[in-house]
Amino acid sequence: MSGRLAVIGLGPGDARLLTPEAEAELTAAAALYGYGPYLDRVPVRPDQARHASDNREEGARAVAALRHAAAGAQVALVSGGDPGVFAMAAAVCQEIEAGPETWRDLDLAIVPGVTAMLAVAARVGAPLGHDFCALSLSDNLKPWDLVERRLDAAAGAGFVIALYNPVSRARPWQLGAAFERLRKHLPAATPVVFGRAVGRADEHVVVTTLDRADPAAADMATLIIVGSTQTRAIARPGRAPLVYTPRAVQGARSRRVSA
Ligand code: SAH
Repeated sequence: MSGRLAVIGLGPGDARLLTPEAEAELTAAAALYGYGPYLDRVPVRPDQARHASDNREEGARAVAALRHAAAGAQVALVSGGDPGVFAMAAAVCQEIEAGPETWRDLDLAIVPGVTAMLAVAARVGAPLGHDFCALSLSDNLKPWDLVERRLDAAAGAGFVIALYNPVSRARPWQLGAAFERLRKHLPAATPVVFGRAVGRADEHVVVTTLDRADPAAADMATLIIVGSTQTRAIARPGRAPLVYTPRAVQGARSRRVSA
C-alpha cells in the first residue's frame, strides 16, 4: 500500500468538536505525530505508533511525518484547532516545497478542524458576524514592528481582530503593547473577549472592554477577540453579556441580505 499523510485538526479540545472526518483519519492511521499535549487528546491504541515532539520542532516534525508517509505508512499529523491556522499544515507545505520531488507525489490530506476563534466566538454570541481578521501575536516568526503595523491596519480598517498566541513565557509584554496600540484606534468601551481553554475542563471566558482589558488575564491557552467600533455587548439578567457584530455596518445602505 502506498503511504498517506493526513494533517488533522483536533478542534479546541472538546471531543464533540472533533469532526467525523478527523476521527476516521485518526482511526485509519498506523502512526501519529504531533506536539505532546495534542497527541494526548487522541486515545491510545497499542497498534498505533506515537511520535510526540516539542512545540518548537515544527519543521522537524513535518519532515519526520513526510518521510514516514513516503516510506509507505499511513501517517496522521495532529494539530489543535484547525491545522491550517497557525499550525502544521503550512509547515508541511513548506517542507514539501523544499524537499525531494517524490514528496509532491504523496497522498496528502488536510483535514479541517474548529479553530479557536470560532469556538470562543460561539461562547459569547457572534463577535465575528461582520468582517474580521486573525493575527498571531507571536514575534518568533515575524518582527514585532510588523505585528504593530498589522494591528494599526486591522483596527483602522474596522476589522474585528482575533489574537492567537497572545503571550508566552518568552513573550511577556507583547499583549500589553498590542492593547495600547489598539486603544489608539478604538473607543474605551470596545468589547474584548478572553476565551481560555475553550472546550476543555478548565475553560474560562471573560467579556470586558478595551480600557479594562488586562494582559495578565491571558496565557498561552487564551484566544482574544477585540471588537470593532460596531461590536456590541448586550447586558442580560443573570447571564453573561451577548457580544455581537451586526451583519450590516451602521449607516450602510439597507439591502436585503440572504441567509
Ligand atoms: N491551530 C490552532 C491554533 C494554534 S496557535 C487553532 O486553529 O485553534 C495556538 C493558540 O491558539 C493559543 O495560543 C491560543 O491563542 C489559541 N487556542 C488554541 N486552542 C484554544 C482553546 N481551546 N481555547 C482558547 N484558545 C485556544
